[in-house]
Amino acid sequence: MTSGIIFNIQKYSIHDGPGIRTTVFFKGCPLKCWWCHNPESQNLKHEIMFFEERCTVCGRCIKKCPEGAIKINHVFPEIDKFKCTLCGKCTDFCPNNAREQVGKNITSDELIEEIAKDEVFYEESGGGATFSGGEPLAQADFLDDILTKCKDRGIHTAVDTSGYAPWKSFERIADKVDLFLYDIKLMDNKNHKKYIGVENTLIIENLKKLSSMGCNIYLRMPIIKGINDNREHIDNTIKLLSNVNVEQVNLLPYHKIGMDKYRRLRMNYKLSGMEKPSSEEMEKISQQFKRHGIKIKIGG
Ligand code: SF4
Ligand code: SF4
Repeated sequence: MTSGIIFNIQKYSIHDGPGIRTTVFFKGCPLKCWWCHNPESQNLKHEIMFFEERCTVCGRCIKKCPEGAIKINHVFPEIDKFKCTLCGKCTDFCPNNAREQVGKNITSDELIEEIAKDEVFYEESGGGATFSGGEPLAQADFLDDILTKCKDRGIHTAVDTSGYAPWKSFERIADKVDLFLYDIKLMDNKNHKKYIGVENTLIIENLKKLSSMGCNIYLRMPIIKGINDNREHIDNTIKLLSNVNVEQVNLLPYHKIGMDKYRRLRMNYKLSGMEKPSSEEMEKISQQFKRHGIKIKIGG
């Protein structure tokens, strides 16, 4: 039995694969997408989120921190990340729940027990379990273990991946995954490096290999204005799809839902002025795919 670190289990999810699903969010991701709406997923370690609006500056957390890691900075108490050992005392003693620990260690036995609680919904709706993140393949042993446990119970499995993981990690799980939700964010390698932090070569190679193994794949494309809503990116994705078999393409319009979390984690959000694409703009992109006979859906 293995254990891993997750930051959320979302029940009754209907956007992460077919039917009603339980989506498990793994912590840790090798990418740093500018538009990431789950910034708490990026770090493989536990983190403390701070909700300023709940803090009354009572000073209890400062007194209780055994490392002396909290000091007032202007108005609010700030944690020195270099001194903090993530003991969690400041979250336990805060009377207003102004600090919350993100990240939970869980064993594969505990997780399958949680997933299996909704087996009846999966059976009735054709749903199952989806492993998302973060990048679930960043915890390959744990992912492999929980997928095996799902398959042993006959639970449908989906893995939502950035594609950025060693091929051997994909190879070992491929026969336990009923559906890959596979992200393609930018076909231009230079822009991929700029906006995502790594090149896309490995991602495209892995996609081709999964396709040649006959894996079931939904391609997921976030659409961000001025970054990847251009004709060239869409044309190059369509060209890629002439060599890769995917069941459908999901176009995911940019949204700002995760923006507040950056402030709570003291992280910098680089797209604060960004607007979401209009329905007309999304429809125009969708038509480009339809013209090539590609099954397309706007949304997850
Ligand atoms: S204990 Fe909570 S409310 Fe009090 S200063 Fe710390 S974070 Fe703010
Ligand atoms: S988690 Fe522990 S060490 Fe870190 S700031 Fe809070 S009390 Fe201090």
